[in-house]
Amino acid sequence: MVGFFDYKLIIQYNMGAYDRFCQSCGMPMEKDPGFGGTNNDGTKTHKYCSLCFENGSFKDSFTVSDEMVDLVKGKLKEMGYSSLKRWFFTSHIHGLERWKA
Ligand SMILES: [Zn+2]
Repeated sequence: MVGFFDYKLIIQYNMGAYDRFCQSCGMPMEKDPGFGGTNNDGTKTHKYCSLCFENGSFKDSFTVSDEMVDLVKGKLKEMGYSSLKRWFFTSHIHGLERWKA
């Protein structure tokens, strides 16, 4: 997971480039080392990143966006981000496709 949460490109999200972000964790897709998750038939999906989605299912067992927010905030804290930035970089997660239901 090291190097995973480089959120500099999150600015693009706030400029309207929603589809360029993993719809589960909010990571910029171009930062995904696996270039997208995999469907159960082995094809790539660009909706979710390789760290969230593999072989057609999510790697975590989260059911609500708050769980993902906590995970991401923890990672950002490890990387030395301030509490304001931690809030800023996770505030969009609630609106991502996986969590809209
Ligand atoms: Zn993800």
